Amino acid sequence: MQTCDICHGKLRFMNKFRYAEGCVCKQCYKKASRQFTETITGKSYQEIQALCDEAQEIPESFEVTGRIGNYLLVDERNRKICIVNNRMAKRQATAPDFYQIEEIQNCEISGAPHMDIGEIERKILEREEGIVKALKVKITLKNVEEPMEISFFEGAVRIKSFAFRQSFGFAKRIVDEIDRLQELCT
Ligand SMILES: [Zn+2]
Repeated sequence: MQTCDICHGKLRFMNKFRYAEGCVCKQCYKKASRQFTETITGKSYQEIQALCDEAQEIPESFEVTGRIGNYLLVDERNRKICIVNNRMAKRQATAPDFYQIEEIQNCEISGAPHMDIGEIERKILEREEGIVKALKVKITLKNVEEPMEISFFEGAVRIKSFAFRQSFGFAKRIVDEIDRLQELCT
């Protein structure tokens, strides 16, 4: 009898969903497809496993109404955000963090060397030379001294590289989304 690659439950004829490297059961398919909103046929075992882990860690009370990459989940109805464990940037897996929008004081892009957002955008546009050594979104909470950080990379990355442009795009979308949510709450 064939079993699910993730939970090792039995796979039956109508309870079998194919991804790039094998099959999963319906429960795991639900998690890996982000509640049936994405196809999994092109996803690798590693990707499927990461998605299932992520789904496992999100309580049912958190209703995902939006997401930005694998970094941020939004529950607009309950005015919450979830900072998803970022396995790409962190060596060690950590549980996702949940925050109420009202708890957020400030949200900004930060990097090393110190970043002027306008200048970075201009450099990206003009495909100029330049190196960035770290890129983060810093989220400061009310009554908490240490800011939360979503880290995209650490180590030298060329500004004109695709990796940088993509990360910077995500960082901007996160800041814009949190701004938007904060406006909804005021
Ligand atoms: Zn399964």
